[in-house]
Amino acid sequence: MPGIPENGCGDILMQTKVLPPFRLVNPEMFATFVMVSFQKSPTNISNDMTKNLILAAAMLLAGGAVAAQPKVIAHRGYWTAPESAQNSIASFTKADAVGVFGSEIDVWLTADDKLIVNHDRIYKGTDVNMEKATAKEITAIVLPNGENIPTLEDYLTQAAKSDKTKLICEIKRHSSAANNQRAADAVVAAVKAAGLTDRVEYIAFDLATCKRIAAALPDAMVQYLNGDIAPAALRADGIRGIDYTFSTISVRPDWIREAHDNGMVVNTWTVNAEQDMMSCIALGMDFITTNYPQTLKELLTKTFVAPN
Ligand code: MG
Repeated sequence: MPGIPENGCGDILMQTKVLPPFRLVNPEMFATFVMVSFQKSPTNISNDMTKNLILAAAMLLAGGAVAAQPKVIAHRGYWTAPESAQNSIASFTKADAVGVFGSEIDVWLTADDKLIVNHDRIYKGTDVNMEKATAKEITAIVLPNGENIPTLEDYLTQAAKSDKTKLICEIKRHSSAANNQRAADAVVAAVKAAGLTDRVEYIAFDLATCKRIAAALPDAMVQYLNGDIAPAALRADGIRGIDYTFSTISVRPDWIREAHDNGMVVNTWTVNAEQDMMSCIALGMDFITTNYPQTLKELLTKTFVAPN
């Protein structure tokens, strides 16, 4: 391969300028590279698990799958940026500013049937329960960056000002099936009312929630989070993707293949270490959800090449 500097970085060498951004367009070549790399310096990858993952990816790719560059999703928005906070409006605008595929949020239905954006059921340091309190009580809470907890409506208004970043909307698991259903219906209605059906994707741990959104919005991207169902079974329910933890999906290259064979996408969370990000790339994940979207974006500008 031309233009490779002799900097001896080991069996995976990161290079930024000589070659165009990494894109696995030739799976057989990649598989060969990985095999050769392992033979040349088998101990240079410090983590045995990573080594196994990349080897598994090589075999997967050698089998004919083509992995494109994964897309970046900011987990709870880009909250690790300065002056940001998890699930704040700023975390969306900062994710939008760095240019990610999507910015993820967590949505609850309040006691008075409003939708608010927050991760935990009980806000830390308070006794305010997202499902039992009113929207007025919840939105009075001030986030670490000085914003108040936003409503979904606030978030959709902000998203409408951008034309690119998707809102990855997690509908939280509520305390009853009835509340899950009401939350799903309310989210769908809010997104439709905002005219943003093409800008919102949906994730949920609750299978019934995923099915309900898929039925209401057959063209929408709905991904299941709970990590316990094979992709093909989900596809039969109209669910178009899996969004499983890195520890779950990184040891199941067969599920990655099964998802792709069924026209589904594979998302994974929450991938924060560069070594794990590299494993996701090698495994052919379609989306990587991370607290460090800028780090992942920079990693994706680099190129995996074989050493001399
Ligand atoms: Mg979430």
